[in-house]
Amino acid sequence: MSTPNLKTASRLDPIKPSITLAVTAKAKALKAAGVDVISFGAGEPDFDTPDHIKEAAKAGLDRGVGKYTEVGGIAPLRAAIAGELGRVHGMTIAPEHVLVSAGAKHSLFNLFMALLDPGDEVVIPAPYWVSYPDMVMLAGGKPVIVEGRAEDDFAIRPEALRAACGPRTRALVLNTPSNPTGAVYSAAQIAALAEVVVEQNLLVVSDDIYRSLVYGGATYSSIAAVGPELAARTILIDGVSKAYAMTGWRIGYAAGPAPIIKAMSKIQGQSTSNAAHISQVATLAALTGPQDCVETMRQAFDERRLAMVELLRAIPGVTCREPKGAFYAFPDVSAFVGKSTADGKVLADDVALCDWLVEGAKVAVVPGSGFGAPGHVRLSYACSMANIREGVRRLHEALVGLRG
Ligand code: PMP
Ligand code: GLU
Repeated sequence: MSTPNLKTASRLDPIKPSITLAVTAKAKALKAAGVDVISFGAGEPDFDTPDHIKEAAKAGLDRGVGKYTEVGGIAPLRAAIAGELGRVHGMTIAPEHVLVSAGAKHSLFNLFMALLDPGDEVVIPAPYWVSYPDMVMLAGGKPVIVEGRAEDDFAIRPEALRAACGPRTRALVLNTPSNPTGAVYSAAQIAALAEVVVEQNLLVVSDDIYRSLVYGGATYSSIAAVGPELAARTILIDGVSKAYAMTGWRIGYAAGPAPIIKAMSKIQGQSTSNAAHISQVATLAALTGPQDCVETMRQAFDERRLAMVELLRAIPGVTCREPKGAFYAFPDVSAFVGKSTADGKVLADDVALCDWLVEGAKVAVVPGSGFGAPGHVRLSYACSMANIREGVRRLHEALVGLRG
């Protein structure tokens, strides 16, 4: 018998597994084994999906929901999304220019697959959400990383964007509020980037998944709303996972120029078909039902945000900017990199530090190098106040106990 050839495609060679999912899975496995781990890993609200959304899904099941739908999503949902995004971004969106997918992650994947030829470049500001560079590479494109500076609250400067552009640059990824930094671009910063976008003839991938979660006077600014020239070159990526505590329902959506949405629909039609029918029905209820649930959760996140930042800043050697949106704190822990544990293990980088923290201190945080920002760690504060207190206490005790 010949040996089976189990070689996988070389296009996967540069692709890393998602570190956010890996850290979360590790914490869950330790918990399942009876270890008392506190996880700040998952970018996932701890709240249950609001009752009226669950009720709409139950009623849907009773009336026979559960069939294939149009690839792009059921008509009332696309109309609701078009209406909502139209209001937020100050433009008119036709329902045919909306594509509903299995999570915003899926929308982004479809988009990069639809957009990129081999060697096409996409500018990704760092720190970035883990999956952007890998998705671009999977699609055959080349991520071009532009580093935001801490003193600019990690917003990239227009001149840095200009310098990163070349003849193959197709798009800029803009994620505000940002995962992992919680930074929110100001209207002036957005306007300045918009000028370069037009000058360099780029498209914009506007990942707005956290736009409803802003705090302390910060406001979300839309690049599409800068003017018709921007609206015509922006692909809006949005979804219900974060704002409505619906991560597991797997619904995200894209809205944008017709040829791009059409190409993304073709990919989806040849791969996954429609997003789950029942989840589309639940999403329709989320978008058209009462919105006070979003505000209630936002206020809870805000309280947790303030508590977590205060506790992190109390750790000698840690510096932590104030996150203004999303639900992550992103402290600088570089002072601890290179230090040793009580049993003599040197923590050579933020990955080693995080491994040691979960195993030794029973607290799971995500290493900054996964987001293109070594020397930092990401903590999600979408968890209970009790977990924040106890988890950051463990972190504090562990870090101040390091030597050297
Ligand atoms: N974009 C960003 C910045 C995110 O943090 C997430 C959450 N993982 C997503 C997109 C995708 O979210 P989902 O697939 O759950 O809609
Ligand atoms: N977006 C979340 C996070 O960053 C969920 C996990 C993922 O899809 O990466 O943690």
